[in-house]
Amino acid sequence: MQLTFNNGIEIEGLEFHIDAHRKAEFSFVSHAHTDHIASHKKILATPETILFFNQRYKRTKARALGFNQPTKFRGCSVELFSSGHILGCAQIKIDSAGTRIVYTGDFKLTGCETTSPAEIIDADILIIESTYGDPRYVFPDRDQVVDQLITFVQKTLLSNQVPIILAYSLGKAQEAIKILGDFGFEIHAESNVYKFCQLYERCGVKFKNLFPLHEEEFKGKVVIFPPYFKKYRTLFNNIYPKRICFLSGWGMDRSSRFRVGADVVIPLSDHADYNDLIRYVEVSNPDKVLTLHGFPEFADDLRRRGFDARYLGKGATISLDKKGKIFPSASGNYDLFM
Ligand SMILES: [Zn+2]
Ligand SMILES: [Zn+2]
Repeated sequence: MQLTFNNGIEIEGLEFHIDAHRKAEFSFVSHAHTDHIASHKKILATPETILFFNQRYKRTKARALGFNQPTKFRGCSVELFSSGHILGCAQIKIDSAGTRIVYTGDFKLTGCETTSPAEIIDADILIIESTYGDPRYVFPDRDQVVDQLITFVQKTLLSNQVPIILAYSLGKAQEAIKILGDFGFEIHAESNVYKFCQLYERCGVKFKNLFPLHEEEFKGKVVIFPPYFKKYRTLFNNIYPKRICFLSGWGMDRSSRFRVGADVVIPLSDHADYNDLIRYVEVSNPDKVLTLHGFPEFADDLRRRGFDARYLGKGATISLDKKGKIFPSASGNYDLFM
């Protein structure tokens, strides 16, 4: 069996791509973040992801599949699992002739305000994201991060400035709004963020104290923008005086606040940190690990820990022969690279 990383992941004999990023006839969509989607003819996804996907691309044929419902696709058994990344985001397990291939997509092991945590799935072949696959990225406890966010807002309001929170419009923004709205702050969300909040509400997540953002008096309110806020420059400039907080795991890097022009970066992340990436691999205990995105060195790290691991670069084709190693052994096993 061959696995190729070309237009997303393509597995020999499987009728759909996995997270294809160019238009495909049929693709599994783990979630509707823009780096995981394109205007496909047909998608396989959770009902929540279909809702968010249709917000970006209309008229796509969709096959909905909930979590933990094994289903057959041309001889392969396919099952989706919670990933803890954003609402509706799914991991996928494909059982093909007794080989269990698990693709985590973006995931997080700790729960959050709007999503249940990722399940760790036993795999023979594990394809795992490694966005934060470097030991520098060990996030503080979530409660501590949530406290940091609330304190930032309180202090900013006390100093008669407007707290502006920069958070991705799908997922991160809803988490921030859930935390801050439930705490009692009045929140005004930019229109894209607000639209996704309305879709979250259709899925049963309720927000308090949330309003769409208009040009008005901002005193005493919290304003939420997507990080690419330069699009709203005029509106943004009208909010004064303000303090800007960016929510991202990259907040572990001191320099990240300069990159986005924020006063503060708080590491509220919707990805697994380094420790949780390692934990996933150890508990799943696969024969082979393919790492995707982020740090290629994470695969070296896993090999030092005894796993047959390889970074899956663009265009790589790998033979999933159960016996062969995917990484060249001391004697050299290069024929398996195809
Ligand atoms: Zn994502
Ligand atoms: Zn992603």
